Amino acid sequence: MKKVSVLIPCYNEEQSLPLLYAALKEVTDALPQYAWEYMFVNDGSKDNTLIILQSLRKMDSKVNYLNLSRNFGKENAMLAGFDFVTGDCMIIMDADLQDPPTLIPQMLNEWEQGWQDVYAKRKSRGKESWVRKVCSLLFYKILSSSSRFEILRNVGDFRLLDRQCIDAMCALREQERYTKGMFCWIGFKKKEIVFDRSDRHEGESKWNFKSLFNLAIDGITSFTTTPLRIATVLGTTIAFCSFVFGIYFLLKTLIIGDPVPGFPTLIVVVLFLGGIQLMAIGIVGEYVGKIYSESKNRPVYIVESFNDSPLTH
Ligand code: UDP
Ligand code: MG
Repeated sequence: MKKVSVLIPCYNEEQSLPLLYAALKEVTDALPQYAWEYMFVNDGSKDNTLIILQSLRKMDSKVNYLNLSRNFGKENAMLAGFDFVTGDCMIIMDADLQDPPTLIPQMLNEWEQGWQDVYAKRKSRGKESWVRKVCSLLFYKILSSSSRFEILRNVGDFRLLDRQCIDAMCALREQERYTKGMFCWIGFKKKEIVFDRSDRHEGESKWNFKSLFNLAIDGITSFTTTPLRIATVLGTTIAFCSFVFGIYFLLKTLIIGDPVPGFPTLIVVVLFLGGIQLMAIGIVGEYVGKIYSESKNRPVYIVESFNDSPLTH
C-alpha cells in the first residue's frame, strides 16, 4: 500500500485546525487504498495549537506532530516537515483551509500517472490590494527574466511531491529559504492543476507588507546575481558618461572660458554619483549578508519534540 503524507505548517492556527482536520479526514477516509499520515509542524505557536495537536494525536494515530522550539517561519517549518515525513509522496497544505483538501484526489490521480510534482495554480489571487498585486507582478518579472529556470506565477506551496522530489528538497539546506523557487529549481516532471483560492477562514494572514518585501528580496538574491550585474553595467555607463562630460567641460573652458562657475552641475553630478554608489554598495551588501548567514552553517530549525517525546539533536 502506498503511503501519502500531508504536511501542514501551523503558526497560531487554533481556530482553523479542527475545521482543517475534519475536512482532511473526510477526503482521506474516502481514499482507503492509501495509508495516510498527517504531519503537522507547530512553528512556535503562541496560542493553543500544540494542545489541539496533542488531543488530535490521542484520537487518531495518523496524526503526527513536530514541535519546533520557536517560530522559525513557514519556509523553515516546511523543511522540518520534509525531513520527517515518511510517505511515498507528500501533499503540502496551509492550515487555514485556503488550499482545499477536495483537490487531493485529483492530485493523487496525476501522481499515479507518473507526474512527480503536481502543483495547484490559483485562478485568481483573491482579496488583495492593488499595491500588492503590482509588486508581485514586478517581482515575478525580475525573477523570470534573470534565472535559467521558470519561476511559476500564482503558484503557492500547495502541491504534491513525489519521494524523489522530497529527497531533493531535503538536500537544499540554505538558511534564507525561498521554497517556491526551490520547487522549480529541483526540476522533475511537473503538472499543473488550477483551482479557486478562497479567502482565509479564521484568524488573519501572518504576512504583512514588510515580510513580503523581505521574502521578495530573499527570493531575488537567492536565485540570481543579476542585481550585481545591473550595478556593474550602471556603474560603467555612468563612468563613461562622466568621462565624456569631463572632456566636454575641459574643452569648453579652454576655448570659451567659464565666466559662471558651474556649481549646479557639480552638485547634481556629485549627488547622482553618490546615490548610484550607495545603491551598488547596498546590492553587494545583500549578497555579502547572504554569505555571512550561510557561512555560520546553523541548522535551519530546531525540534523540541516529535509526537510527545523530546528530541535531542
Ligand atoms: N505559517 C508558519 N509559520 C509562520 C507563518 C505562517 O508555519 O511563521 C503557516 C500558517 O500557519 C499557515 C501557512 O503557513 O498554515 C500560511 O500562512 P498564512 O495563511 O498566514 O499565509 P498566506 O495564506 O497569507 O500566504
Ligand atoms: Mg493563508
